Order: sequence, then structure tokens, then C-alpha cells
Amino acid sequence: MAEPMGFYTDTTVCIGCKACEVACKEWNQLPATNGGVTTLSGDSYDNTRRLDGIHWRHVKFIEQFSLDRRDGRWLMMSDVCKHCVRAGCLEVCPTGAIIRTEFDTVVIQSDVCNGCRDCIAACPFGVIDINPVSGTAQKCTLCYDRMRAGMEPACSTACPTDSIQFGPVASLRKRAEARVAQLQQAGEKRAHLYGADERMLGGLNSFYLLVDRPEVYGLPPDPRMPTRNLKAGSLWSMLGAVVIGRMGLVSFRMRGGREEGPGGRLDT
Ligand code: SF4
Ligand code: SF4
Repeated sequence: MAEPMGFYTDTTVCIGCKACEVACKEWNQLPATNGGVTTLSGDSYDNTRRLDGIHWRHVKFIEQFSLDRRDGRWLMMSDVCKHCVRAGCLEVCPTGAIIRTEFDTVVIQSDVCNGCRDCIAACPFGVIDINPVSGTAQKCTLCYDRMRAGMEPACSTACPTDSIQFGPVASLRKRAEARVAQLQQAGEKRAHLYGADERMLGGLNSFYLLVDRPEVYGLPPDPRMPTRNLKAGSLWSMLGAVVIGRMGLVSFRMRGGREEGPGGRLDT
């Protein structure tokens, strides 16, 4: 396999211009929402709302203002598929439509997807949804077609501030660690990396530099594989079955004792 490739997103330099969203839509020929009729969400400058089958990038706007609004800041973050090293979506897909590529990225093959939605439930980041045009599950491919041609993904090419950086994951991590050190030295003590090492799902090939808790950005602090949840769930189910079985046996014996006469024969 070639060197793992991915994204490092430094949220501190995102200006919320949404060039990444537009470039993604344009390159991947994703349709407009609501037939192109604009409806405002009322949620800051975010009218995309969430990642789904036709929004493979989503720029989040998180407002942090004091009550009198004299003091505050916007946290902006361009969200995308994390291309997890241990990917729940890939693990549950019953048709083998979701594959790991030679770049260690995770891609859904539309022509093999039967639209069963299992992957939607299995992704701990809420990345996947059905594209209403194709009727199949879709998400970011990390521009697999562009990478095959030796090109950079459309979003990172379009980003004017280098908030989204593309490259070999190992060198992106080094760059990100240096940036965290720089920010902490400058007084931003909460600067940290999310998903950059293997502790989170074996590592996220698309990882983030954040300056607040993951929950503030709508990211799970401890994302889990569906199988890990299933394991715990089945243990509880097995325990429940054993308890119910024993209770049934006890009540059957008690009833038997009541119905038997003194000689051990059933009363009639
Ligand atoms: S973020 Fe979700 S959709 Fe992307 S690879 Fe991980 S589990 Fe799959
Ligand atoms: S293109 Fe870059 S700066 Fe603009 S919204 Fe996307 S990540 Fe932020």
C-alpha cells in the first residue's frame, strides 16, 4: 500500500468562507439542496446544517459570545469524513461496497451499494447519508479520482488560508504537533489534536486541531466502533437470558411444589 494520505485541518485559521464546500460540490457534481431554493437555518452563518449524501464538506460556525456580546469569538471548522483506520462503516457494509483504497482512505462504491443504510448507523461521526439522486450511501472520497491522477483534493486546493492541508498523514502529524506547540506558547493552552494518534479508532486520517473540547465542535469525545458496542450489548443480552431462564425454572418448581399432594401425586 502507498503511504497513508489524509487531511490535517487547523480550525484556528478557518475564516468560514466555504470555498471548500463549493469546490467539493463542484468537483463531485453534487446537487443543490432543495432544488437550489435557499432556506436559512437561523444557526449563525451555517445554512448547510450537516454532512450528508450531497454535502461531503460542512463548515461549522460555533458562536462563543458573552451575554452583553462585547467579548466573543467564532470557532469555525470544516468537517468531513475522518477516513478512520478502523472504520465502522466499512466493517458493517453487507455488500462490500465500502473499501479501503491504496491511499488508506475509505471509499463507497456507488455501483455496489444497495442503499441498506447500515453504514449510516455505524459511523460514529454522522458522516454518511443517502444521495437522493443515486439512491445510494455517499460521502467524501478524499477525491480518490484526483489522487489517482496525482492531484490534490478539491477542498484543500481551494482553501485560501491552508486551514485544510493535504498530504502523507505522518508528515501532517509533525506539522500539526509543531502548530499546537506554537499556539500553546502563545497562550492558547486548550490547543490540542483530535484523532491524530492511534488511540482514536486506530487514528483518523483526517484529523483536527481544536481549541476547545470536541463536544463544542459537535465531535464525539470517545467515538466507538459499532462492534465494540455490540460486544457489550450481547454480553448484557446473554446475562439477561440466563437470569430470565433461572427465574422461569424457579417459578416452575414452586408451582410444581404447590400442585403436588402429600403423596407426591397431583391433586385432582
Ligand atoms: S468517519 Fe464515518 S464514514 Fe468516514 S470512514 Fe469513519 S466511520 Fe466511515
Ligand atoms: S476554504 Fe478553508 S478557510 Fe474557507 S471555509 Fe473552508 S476550511 Fe475555512
